[in-house]
Amino acid sequence: MPLITDKERIDEALELLWVLNEDQHPDISHFRANSDDADTDAIIETLLHESLASLHGSEIHLTEKGHKAARGLIRRQRLAERLFTDVFEMPDDSVVSDACKMEHILSEELTESVCTFLGHPPNCPHGKPIPRGECCRKFKVEVVPVVMRLSEFEVSAAGKITFIVPSDASRISRLNSLGIAAGSIIKLIQKTPSFVIQIDETTVALDPEIAKEIYVRKVVS
Ligand SMILES: [Zn+2]
Ligand SMILES: [Zn+2]
Repeated sequence: MPLITDKERIDEALELLWVLNEDQHPDISHFRANSDDADTDAIIETLLHESLASLHGSEIHLTEKGHKAARGLIRRQRLAERLFTDVFEMPDDSVVSDACKMEHILSEELTESVCTFLGHPPNCPHGKPIPRGECCRKFKVEVVPVVMRLSEFEVSAAGKITFIVPSDASRISRLNSLGIAAGSIIKLIQKTPSFVIQIDETTVALDPEIAKEIYVRKVVS
């Protein structure tokens, strides 16, 4: 039987095995029933041949090598889902198909940046666990998210606006007219009773909802 060399097909099979394992159904019949591959026999044969999976009676398990590869793929896919849902606020069904492609694009370094940027989320938008990365372990002791919402920013700290994700697109021009735009340096004056930021010599009061839509990176003042 010809082995499959298409990496994307192998990746899809590894991801499926990971998910089946999460739901505790590592039976080979479950794999066949859930696989979208055009040739499930060939893909199973390939996984076995590449030492990515092994058979135990009627069950198919990821090997250590397969587990490591699948873990990285799942991590990237679920982080991409979070990115699309939380930052780009895309509707749920389009998220999965786009995230499916993303895990093949995100490099390891980019994955760490995305994870840090999102504040090391423990779950995807569907509630499935995101495998932890090196960045998540460091986070506990020393690393804070590079970019955070203005609503979570520290009072009296200075930040540079990285981007704005308005729930209402018409807001952008109004914010821009106040000097609130990507690249602007702001200082958070207070959070309560209302959000007040300083831009140049001007202070601007913001609705807390808008403060959630402005993403800032801390700068040393
Ligand atoms: Zn998900
Ligand atoms: Zn992380």
